[in-house]
Amino acid sequence: MSKGTKVPGYMQGKGSRNPRGIIGDREIRYKCSLQNTVLDVLRGRPGWQEVPGQNNIPQNVQANPKQQGQQSTGQQPSNTGKSGSGSTNQGTTFGNKGSFQSIPPITRNSDGDWDFYWCDREWLAQNYDTMFLYEHQKILHFRNHYELTRKNLMVKNLKRLKKQTERELGKAEGQSFEFFPTTYELPSEYHIFVEEFKKNPGIIWIMKPAARAQGRGIFLFRRLKDITDWKKGEYQPLSDPNREVPETYVVQRYIENPYLIGGRKFDVRVYVLVVSYNPLKVWLYRSGFARFSNTRFSLDSIEDTYVHLTNVAIQKNAPDYDPDKGCKWSTQQLRKYLCAKHGVEAVKNAFKGIDNIIIKSLQSVQKIIINDKHCFEMYGYDVLFDSDLKPWLIEINASPSLTASGKEDYDLKFGLLNDVLNVLDLENRLTGKEKRIGGWDLLWEDGPILADDGNMECTPNGTTASIPNSFLGCHNDRKRQLRELFTAAQSIKKS
Ligand code: ADP
Repeated sequence: MSKGTKVPGYMQGKGSRNPRGIIGDREIRYKCSLQNTVLDVLRGRPGWQEVPGQNNIPQNVQANPKQQGQQSTGQQPSNTGKSGSGSTNQGTTFGNKGSFQSIPPITRNSDGDWDFYWCDREWLAQNYDTMFLYEHQKILHFRNHYELTRKNLMVKNLKRLKKQTERELGKAEGQSFEFFPTTYELPSEYHIFVEEFKKNPGIIWIMKPAARAQGRGIFLFRRLKDITDWKKGEYQPLSDPNREVPETYVVQRYIENPYLIGGRKFDVRVYVLVVSYNPLKVWLYRSGFARFSNTRFSLDSIEDTYVHLTNVAIQKNAPDYDPDKGCKWSTQQLRKYLCAKHGVEAVKNAFKGIDNIIIKSLQSVQKIIINDKHCFEMYGYDVLFDSDLKPWLIEINASPSLTASGKEDYDLKFGLLNDVLNVLDLENRLTGKEKRIGGWDLLWEDGPILADDGNMECTPNGTTASIPNSFLGCHNDRKRQLRELFTAAQSIKKS
């Protein structure tokens, strides 16, 4: 889909054809490093204009799903400048090092001439520390997002907050952190791991490179010998003189009793949007999907990645993979199935567990992430249910795949990304007080958000409580909701 693509009806309203906002009476200028659904969304957004540049995709290039995740190395925007006092009406810089500048006149096609940048992580890492951002500019990723998205750091941060919680609030409270499998970093925690291994003979462990993705480099093992052989090869610097440092891995207890549907294992992709770390403001998307393995689950063949790893990147290479059938269910389908099988209450509890995972994990890095009002992050959480319907956090991605595997997947991602832009609201069409925007529900803003539909639920001790504003897997009538939301916001603004 390219620029002339038909856009959803709610966007064809008067306000969006002639967007007026914080940027004034002109188009919103964007840059994008990826060639996938996100580029389609940006190109299809009324009143948004692509800024050609070295880290951007020429307009006549069609989004190409095969190239998803391809990272380009871009250049620093030309408005890199001396820093300001942190927050001004004119512009802000990082590091509080100097004087601020006023917003420059619009010079079309200059490299720093953008309002919104869907950049890749590498670009941000290379440019963040020296770049200048104006008040209105928005950019994807927080500077040190890896604190949550590298497997070893995520666990380290979670363990730290768990300990602190136990210290300050008691052991019982610490149990709310029992959602990540026992994990050690290798090589640094090898000896502690060996002790733990010996305490639990016969269980299965999974070994994962800390910073790789898509199931690459992962394997399962049962015997210590497997790991010592591997360690000899992997951490023997002399075997490869060009290797400077051994790669960091995590070794993690394998969840041996995953919840199975049709005999197959799956994990759930949950989308979470963080627009601020201080105060922590978190949105949860209603829709997502479950990714199934292609082969029936069994612990007999732990070397078979088609059985044990649910990554689409792995499953699509399975010999009997059917691209038409795919291996996904929508989160709505999954919730419905689970409700039919276990009842609404059990499923509600299981999904509350996912809310807990999201909030605790974000809180574990809240003080570490460099909070910046220009930055936002759309995370892809991977959650696995065990046979007791307990959700486990597997990992958190800062660049979840935005390439569509089929029409349904495309529609999901197209809506999801459009709704990210609706939440960020560069067009300034909303009031800022919304609890729901399209498929995004506000889960947390410096504290839990409650749904204001007047519904109450019974707690185990017989009292009533308002329902949390969390609707993962619930009906997502985003287009209708947005139509009503924009109309309501317009009349509030007028009055
Ligand atoms: P990657 O970043 O390479 O995708 P993940 O940590 O997401 O690595 O693991 C890939 C897949 O392996 C997951 O989607 C899940 O199916 C499986 N997996 C990972 N860790 C565990 C675990 N501890 N127990 C059971 N399955 C796991």
